[in-house]
Amino acid sequence: MSTTNHTKTLIIGAGPAGYTAAIYAARANLQPIQLLGPQPGGQLTITTDVENYPGFKDVIQGPWLMEQMHAQAAHVGTDMRYESVEKVDFSKRPFTVHTDSEVTYTADTVIIATGAQAKWLDIPSEAHFRGYGVSGCATCDGFFFKNKNVAVIGGGNSAVEEAIYLTNHCAHVTLIHRRDTLRAEKIAQDRLFKNPKISVIWDTAVEEFLGTDQPVRSLTALRLKNLKTKAITDHNFDGAFVAIGHTPMSAIFNQLQRDSEGYVVTTPGSTATSITGVFAAGDVQDKVFRQAVTAAGQGCMAALEAEKLLSH
Ligand code: NDP
Repeated sequence: MSTTNHTKTLIIGAGPAGYTAAIYAARANLQPIQLLGPQPGGQLTITTDVENYPGFKDVIQGPWLMEQMHAQAAHVGTDMRYESVEKVDFSKRPFTVHTDSEVTYTADTVIIATGAQAKWLDIPSEAHFRGYGVSGCATCDGFFFKNKNVAVIGGGNSAVEEAIYLTNHCAHVTLIHRRDTLRAEKIAQDRLFKNPKISVIWDTAVEEFLGTDQPVRSLTALRLKNLKTKAITDHNFDGAFVAIGHTPMSAIFNQLQRDSEGYVVTTPGSTATSITGVFAAGDVQDKVFRQAVTAAGQGCMAALEAEKLLSH
């Protein structure tokens, strides 16, 4: 039997944006309900060391950081539900949200913080070495490859920016792209080609991530296939960064204005979406910064904006 709950502020998602929105909304006495979704904790639950989230002198673990955010949001009074949203109706207020537990929520304001998923090559060996030499985030993990030889896979702005960023730490960076031209903006390409620490392997796909399991699991090489000649060769690398794009988790929010890649459009300097009372924070609306700390900041903004709207 389905049940209905009403709340002033419904938060959808449980990454840094969702938890921060929950902390601020609960402390503002909005009595928020937070729907934690299919992967509570979000992308940080699949990373290991985190060194760039302020407040911690020593290295912390991504999953631990998310447990702390969860505990903090619960401690200040957020009503958390282990449910995933299946359908929304933002056409009239209060807004209506249906979950996979056959619960219907009505809400005066909604904060969408469903995040994004990094795209992966989906090769079994990639999953095996993820966190052990294979990464999806240069800003997060580049530091661990000081003076090492790494590869970046992809040809868009993310791949080019990650390659350039990694030259701050690494001895050499090799960009591996499946075509013979980059998708990245010209200015970024110019910077890449001018950088003496970067070389490019064109027309090439990764066939396998190779490495050892003893004494510690670690990546040692990539098996590459030249897509024109079909030649297969192994190349030694200490690390590999997969940067082939992200998918924002916004498919069910098609009543909102979204850009051509599916990111929810928000007003500059605000988390307001195209529907008054619906706010979006974090990676579901941010394709530029994509950091835990920026997502947390946007979660804070969303809760403050929801509170302001409700107080009028
Ligand atoms: P993009 O979709 O722009 O690029 C993805 C790249 O990965 C493409 O070169 C694509 O190849 C390649 N690729 C995709 N799938 C595979 C696969 N299965 N195997 C091998 N290669 C693959 O993603 P980005 O993350 O780079 O950028 C996303 C958006 O964010 C863009 O709009 C970008 O401009 C923006 N962005 C902006 C930044 C900024 O302004 N500072 C920084 C980073 C991103 P192919 O080219 O052959 O399709």
